[in-house]
Amino acid sequence: MNKNELIFCPLGGSGQIGGNMNLYAYGNEENQKWIIVDTGVSFADDSVPGIDLIYPDPAYIIDKKNDLLGIVLTHAHEDHIGAISHIWPDLKCNIYATPFTSVLIQEKFKEKKIDISNFLKIVKLNGQIDLGPFNIEFVSLTHSILEPNGLSIKTPAGMILHTGDWKIDPNPLIGDKINEKKLKEIGNNKVLAMICDSTNIFSPGRAGSELDVRESLLKIMSLKSKRIIVTSFASNVARMETIFYCAEKINRQVCLVGRSMNRIFKAAKQCGYLQNIKNPIDPRESKNFPREKLVYLCTGSQGEPMGAMKRIVKGIHPDIYIEKGDTVIFSSRIIPGNEKKLYSLHNDLVRQEVELITEETDFVHVSGHPNREDLKDMYNWVKPDSIIPVHGEHRHMNEHINFAKEMQIPHALRIEDGDVVRIFPGKNPEIIDKAPSGKMYLDGNIAVGEDSQSIKERKNLSLNGYLEITLILNNSGKLNKPIISYRGIPENNFDEKIIFEMEDNIFTTCRSFSMKNKNQEKNLIETIKQNCRRLIKEKTGKKPYTNINIARL
Ligand SMILES: [Zn+2]
Ligand SMILES: [Zn+2]
Repeated sequence: MNKNELIFCPLGGSGQIGGNMNLYAYGNEENQKWIIVDTGVSFADDSVPGIDLIYPDPAYIIDKKNDLLGIVLTHAHEDHIGAISHIWPDLKCNIYATPFTSVLIQEKFKEKKIDISNFLKIVKLNGQIDLGPFNIEFVSLTHSILEPNGLSIKTPAGMILHTGDWKIDPNPLIGDKINEKKLKEIGNNKVLAMICDSTNIFSPGRAGSELDVRESLLKIMSLKSKRIIVTSFASNVARMETIFYCAEKINRQVCLVGRSMNRIFKAAKQCGYLQNIKNPIDPRESKNFPREKLVYLCTGSQGEPMGAMKRIVKGIHPDIYIEKGDTVIFSSRIIPGNEKKLYSLHNDLVRQEVELITEETDFVHVSGHPNREDLKDMYNWVKPDSIIPVHGEHRHMNEHINFAKEMQIPHALRIEDGDVVRIFPGKNPEIIDKAPSGKMYLDGNIAVGEDSQSIKERKNLSLNGYLEITLILNNSGKLNKPIISYRGIPENNFDEKIIFEMEDNIFTTCRSFSMKNKNQEKNLIETIKQNCRRLIKEKTGKKPYTNINIARL
């Protein structure tokens, strides 16, 4: 590799929806420069107990940090910025983002007590930056958050369009419209490759507009006579403004509930959005208003255990409760994987005789990602030579390749995290290497790898229960009565008899070892462990996680 070449390498988000992190490089063996586009998180499910956040393993780029020119952020969704304050301390490079995204990432660094001001470079909307061989132009798109940007990345080898997340919303209500003129201009200048959002590739038609949701919500809300509680993604500021708009029209006060709802409200105001709305009232204050005069806008649209919606439904919110005749509107998508949590919440509401409105019953939500007709427009504007689908599971990216063929795009490549892809003019992009890629799990406040002992042990404990045996030996090596304790083992057949059996077994085992000989201790522990686990397995069917201690007096 002596010639200069252009490389693309996704470390996260190609193979799953979430945890987006992409690398671009330009140069040759002696001199190669890198940029990172987005550093996002995904959220853990029950399969990893005790873990909230997962993000791409950044080891590959940490290795190259001396040649790293910066992190460029497309927009402020957690799947694009959520890992920034966890990854940055190992990179200490500049970060480039538009104003709204900057406000939100500043908060993330503040939480970690890092002063990022010297490294955070605020880019104006449709602005551009030069990073070594990369000339990067931010292109305003529309999505489900303020200030979504595509990136046109010019290099001496040609131009890439990295779309980030987008859809075509003719009436986004807040923020700019999609910069169609710029996208067409980019298309006229020959785009080597488009790295494109695949989330809604299976959805026909168009993603739809925030304006249509506003009109529908107003119709629905104006018919309600009691308390109205709406839940949606806090980051969707257009939706938030819609709730203020509808409340004003039907003569109600808005009350924002939940930490992230208030955080986003403040950030949007700080950046000059939401200027013409009435101030919300405080949840404590809301008790002084009759219920027919209130609209609550809450966090927890996915049934999150700590979200405001869940706490209100369970009756444990300090300021807000719900009564028969009230209406709850889920103005959001049911994210695949969250069905169980959400349907249980829906059932609780129906049991309390609260009217339930969701995307399954009414038109109360539009997606922020491109459906097939939106994609067609983008392809026609940008006319890329190659397509590399990202932001999807394998099935999404595969269908996106089929779509690209239908659209007569000359070249397309299906990739996954870790693929090192060479992009060159007039040829199919090519996977030339595999970068180490994997996941980091935020366990408490420590980042651990996928095969971490702490996660393995917790899984084991949560599935099988726990048995602890302490052997106390006096100075002549004689064993006292062992102390046996256990947690999470079913009790029905687990009577005193089995404790006696274990004690007997332990005494017998100990007699076959020389208790004074420390070298035999490991074997002794292993034998006792195996015997006791087997005994419990016979009685209860469970094989507990077992710990044996030996104390010598
Ligand atoms: Zn997004
Ligand atoms: Zn995304």
